[in-house]
Order: sequence, then structure tokens, then C-alpha cells
Amino acid sequence: MKSRLFVMSAPSGAGKTTLKDLVIKEFPDLCYSISATTRPPREGEIDGIHYFFKTREEFKKMIAENDLVEWNEVHGNFYGTPKSFVEKKLSEGMRVLFDLDVFGKVNFDKVYPDATGILVLPPSMEILEQRLRHRATDCEAVIELRLSNAKKEIEFAKQYGKYEFTIINDNLERAADELRKILS
Ligand code: ADP
Ligand code: 5GP
Repeated sequence: MKSRLFVMSAPSGAGKTTLKDLVIKEFPDLCYSISATTRPPREGEIDGIHYFFKTREEFKKMIAENDLVEWNEVHGNFYGTPKSFVEKKLSEGMRVLFDLDVFGKVNFDKVYPDATGILVLPPSMEILEQRLRHRATDCEAVIELRLSNAKKEIEFAKQYGKYEFTIINDNLERAADELRKILS
């Protein structure tokens, strides 16, 4: 049986959220797993829709109580996948799409080894930088950190990651079509 779980990973700014938002509404049986994070909300982000925004103490409690499928510290903040949400959606017969960093994906695979991995990459590091700057959601220090982490993430994903598909997000519509095919 085909897995009902799909995991997207990408260096920050590659366009994973844009692609996901464009395509997911076309699949009524597919839902997005809302992660918990200690990162402060960006402008327009809503608690319970984009993330469950937590304090570090609340997040540590979730770890201690074994509430997370996996978690990781990414770019200086904690991110994790709440267990109850996945289990509920699977029991309802839904398929679930996750957004995980490349290191968190390795831990996710220990729990759900059959999940389909989708790696989204920018056409070049220059374009990645342009996109992070153009998005204008992060301060200079955070952009620098995300860019330097991007190189490590891409190397790690190529060497150790389990990604059945790689999408180069050059042209948005073309990349979205690739994602549609994978999810179909
Ligand atoms: P991620 O979720 O991977 O961090 P985002 O989806 O937030 O990345 O995209 C980063 C920025 O790049 C956003 O401003 C988005 O509008 C832009 N973007 C995404 N895909 C493309 C594309 N194919 N061409 C040009 N700009 C893009
Ligand atoms: P952002 O702050 O840009 O929303 O996300 C930063 C990074 O955190 C991205 O690489 C994203 O894939 C990752 N991320 C988001 N949710 C989770 C999660 O639940 N677990 C892990 N391991 N990474 C996550």
C-alpha cells in the first residue's frame, strides 16, 4: 500500500510553503501537519493555522511528555510534530503532508519509515538569498544564519536523506505541477 504520509524539506527560502499552499487545496483528502515551534510568529501568521506557537518551557514539556513524533532545533528555535494530530488524521483516513527540516526528517523516518520524502531546492544559492531577502520576514542576522545552514542542509539531505523526489523550484508553476503529480 502507498504511504499516506508525505514529507517536504527544503532550505529556508526555497519556496516550500509557497508550493504547499498553492497545491494542497486541490487535494481534499490531504491535510497539512501543523508543527509546534518556539519561533515568534511572523506578520500574518496565526496560532493553530501556521504553527502552534509555544514558549520554550511549553515546548520542553511536550518533549518530556512524549507528545512529539520528532523535534529539532532549527536556526535557533525548536520545531516539532505533534503526535496526536497525525494519529487523528490517519484514523480519519486522511493523508498528511509534513514540513520538516532535513535532520528532523531522519528522526521522523524512524517512526514512519514508509513516508514519501520530497526535497525542494532553489535553482542556485544566489536565488535562495534573493528570495530570503525579498520575503523580508527575517532580520539580517537570521537571513545570514539561514543561508549558512542551507549549505549544510543541502549536503546532508543529498548524502543521508531519504527523499524519493527532488523538485527544483525555478519556475513556480512548473514546480507546482511536479508536486501535484507526486501527491496525485
Ligand atoms: P520556504 O517555505 O521554503 O522558507 P517560501 O515559500 O516562504 O519559502 O518562499 C520564499 C520566498 O520566495 C517568498 O517570498 C516566495 O514568494 C518566493 N518564491 C517561492 N517560490 C518562488 C519561485 N518559484 N520563483 C520566485 N519566487 C518564489
Ligand atoms: P520557518 O521558521 O521558516 O517556518 O521554518 C524553519 C525550518 O523549520 C524549516 O526548515 C522547516 O522545514 C522546519 N520545520 C518546520 N516545522 C518542523 C517540525 O515540525 N519539525 C522539524 N524537524 N522541522 C520543522
